[in-house]
Amino acid sequence: MIYLFTFIPEKNLQKIEILSYTWPDVEYKTFKVIRYDYFIWIDSIKNAQNLRPILNAYNKITFKAIDPTDSIYLHFIKGFYVVPYWTDTVKNNLIIDSIKFFHNGNYKAFNYYTPGDTLIIVKFLFTINPNDSFRLEIYYHGITNRAGSSFGGGLDLKQNNIVYTDNEPFGLRRWLPSFDLPYEKPQIVDAKIKTKIGWKTIANGKLIDSIIEGNWITYHYRENYPIAPYLIVFASSNKFTIQTQTWNYNNISMPIYHYLGPNNNSPSLYLPNQLTIFSNKYGIYPFYDEKYAEVQIFEGFFGGAMENQTNTFTIATNYEILSAHELSHHWWGNMVTCATFKDIFINESFATYSEAVYDENNLGYGNYMGQIHGDINRYLNYGDYNKPIYNPGPSLSDVFDGNITYSKGSAVLHALRLLFRAIYNDSALGDNKFFQALKYYGNKRKFSYARVVDFENDIKEFLNSENKDTSIGYFFNQWIFKPGHPQFQFLISKNFNGSTYDLYIKVNQNQPNNWARFKIPKYPIRIKFSDNSQIDTTINIDSLPSQTFYFNFIKEPTTIIPDYPNHYIDQISVALIPENEFIYVKIKDNKLKLSIPRIGNYELKIYNSLGRIVLSKNLQINKNQIEMPLNLPKGIYFIEIKGNLNYKSKIINF
Ligand SMILES: [Zn+2]
Repeated sequence: MIYLFTFIPEKNLQKIEILSYTWPDVEYKTFKVIRYDYFIWIDSIKNAQNLRPILNAYNKITFKAIDPTDSIYLHFIKGFYVVPYWTDTVKNNLIIDSIKFFHNGNYKAFNYYTPGDTLIIVKFLFTINPNDSFRLEIYYHGITNRAGSSFGGGLDLKQNNIVYTDNEPFGLRRWLPSFDLPYEKPQIVDAKIKTKIGWKTIANGKLIDSIIEGNWITYHYRENYPIAPYLIVFASSNKFTIQTQTWNYNNISMPIYHYLGPNNNSPSLYLPNQLTIFSNKYGIYPFYDEKYAEVQIFEGFFGGAMENQTNTFTIATNYEILSAHELSHHWWGNMVTCATFKDIFINESFATYSEAVYDENNLGYGNYMGQIHGDINRYLNYGDYNKPIYNPGPSLSDVFDGNITYSKGSAVLHALRLLFRAIYNDSALGDNKFFQALKYYGNKRKFSYARVVDFENDIKEFLNSENKDTSIGYFFNQWIFKPGHPQFQFLISKNFNGSTYDLYIKVNQNQPNNWARFKIPKYPIRIKFSDNSQIDTTINIDSLPSQTFYFNFIKEPTTIIPDYPNHYIDQISVALIPENEFIYVKIKDNKLKLSIPRIGNYELKIYNSLGRIVLSKNLQINKNQIEMPLNLPKGIYFIEIKGNLNYKSKIINF
């Protein structure tokens, strides 16, 4: 058995930048990361440079070859590095002491180099066969530090009384050599954290043991569920006080730990109820045989909370909705992880929507709608309308844009729920099926990752299994992949025809051309009448620049309120047109019925779906309503009327 290192001078290598200004896609690799066994020994006292050294550390990474493998790369930021995505600078000084490579249990020779101080590239001297397992052990020590105060900063240290890690999106590589992309989830992470005695440490998963040697204590934790790299954390402090609660659910009894800082002794007592509510709606808490913990990072944290797996880190522990948000990530983000940070909808839109779901099941539907209205208004008042939810932009502030990926995303999930109500033609049944569909998706992607398009496909698959219409791609396109929202102009015209009132509602979609034309089935409107009565009804808005809807009433309609009650992200203007200015077209029993309210000469053309004229006619209009036989095969046509008034639309002859 031999092993050897060959160092390739860095200046001979092209600098490889994995961090760049686009978010990395899921890439094909010949190997899979199976397991991390890491150890980190931290000096509790800062050194002369005010830094807390890592005295010793290793990560033993077990891989499995999927295809023939002769090299691999890992992320590890050893030195000075200016981080794209955010104004942050890593000033690490981490020294790799040795790397060992084992193949089928035997030491083997290999070469490695560390281009740009951001990667470890390992070249094997032979090709590893598919299904073989192999292991790399990276031993290192040194200093981690950073200048910025944003999130994702890696291993941080404050005031000689707390040390913690914070990773999202790419902070793990700042303190642990790893394959640090969200889709590469090791199945097991075994963590040993060694600190001065008297310090209490918490990490992902279950505590195995804690062992004292002299003045040092080593806490040993193991996470037995797949975990995205950005969720691998620990926190250690000599100031923690620990409170414990128990969550009971069916036959399960699970501990909830509150690690509280010196200035905050009120834990989030809402957690058992929140665990029950989300387990009822989404399926049982995925890590129920381990734990849930809220850990107060009481010094220097970025000012929010982070859903680290089984181990939420938070600036303060007694914010009810913040607790619900981070807990819900354990389904949406941790159990099912965004494949790339372009797919942040998979994480943050779901967690924001879950705040409303918690309110609904805790306090009632009115509180749910209160949250949704808050999300709609936040987006409409403060959002950058030109950012789509999918791939909102190249910087961290784009991906974690509260107005877009959080608020708009949440309102879009509510719109999906409304689509289910329309598809099932029943509110209660639609709601029920919507949550069933979320569960279906959650189970299918459990402990793995998802792109937005995977979510879309799973929703279609669910509807298909229910024998429902699956042609809902437009929904994802208009709300998630494209930016913006509907800017509806409602033009209302009414006409007393001697005995009843004709009401015409023309809906123009006036949003910019790079936004979608929106399709919203069963879009709600309220119509009020002169006798103070009212009805709530719906119209089917299609993806058209303009559409006209016709109603006929005995009573005089006085007011039209679109989107009542306010459910959608839309901006609406309503104008009353004194005279009827709309052409209205209806097809029934192979007859074309036209309502053309202005007299004159008109040109009528009907095109088939290939764009060929199948009917062309000159019309002399001297009364409002005319009717003519159509005599065309069933199908989709386009109708165009030109004259004193103009009209263009898609029609279906059925
Ligand atoms: Zn979140």
